[in-house]
Amino acid sequence: MSNERTYIAEALVARRSDYLEADRRLTLLTPERGRLTVVAKGVRRPTSRLAGHLELFTLAKVFVVRRRGLDLVVQAETVQTFPELRDDLSRVPYAYQAIEAALILVTEEVEAHAEFILLLKALSVLAASAALPLVLVAFKLQLLASLGYQTQLVTCARCGDPLSSSDNRVRPDAGGVVCAPCGGLSGLPIEVRGIKCLRWLAREPLDSVSRLQADPATIAQLELAADAFVRYVAEQDLRTTPFLERMRALKTQS
Ligand SMILES: [Zn+2]
Repeated sequence: MSNERTYIAEALVARRSDYLEADRRLTLLTPERGRLTVVAKGVRRPTSRLAGHLELFTLAKVFVVRRRGLDLVVQAETVQTFPELRDDLSRVPYAYQAIEAALILVTEEVEAHAEFILLLKALSVLAASAALPLVLVAFKLQLLASLGYQTQLVTCARCGDPLSSSDNRVRPDAGGVVCAPCGGLSGLPIEVRGIKCLRWLAREPLDSVSRLQADPATIAQLELAADAFVRYVAEQDLRTTPFLERMRALKTQS
């Protein structure tokens, strides 16, 4: 791979920032090369023919020239856009967080076919679903599993005993949920109902997730649990969480 001068990639524009005078620095997620940081030259000029194909959340086919330093996108063609995820304010923060989870979990220059397909599926479902929090929880659990971090949700992740009827804890450091004697007082408490939901969300196709009936308190537990697993594996917080919470608070007020 190191000898090639150019490559073509299917890429989701996951993050972008202004760069130099008229350029943009883009973070792309790709099936063949995982996460990539590239530069798109001149795309902030009104005459740029590239710009329209490199908007945030656009899936594009890009032609890239390798350079010392950051690679350069020289051509791009839109494959798919997700207008609902840019325009519908109730969906925007969920899309941001799904993409952030993928960005912090998928590493640079590694194959990520399954993860890429899962992310596109998550974005399609987030564009239409009424069960946005559950879709996001399911996506995070399935993304982790796809990367080799299958959460242990059936028996205690420490001792292997069946999980008791109460006092179970979410313990990412143990790789799942642990029983009362193993968990002690540390870790998020989680009800049996919540554990069953996590198990279901970890294996169901994302477009079936809205069938799950869960009360708001359980959904809140599921979200905290999924975030704890992501945070532990990625070794960093999800920075879009405060944005997600603000948007939800606004929605409750209105
Ligand atoms: Zn145990």
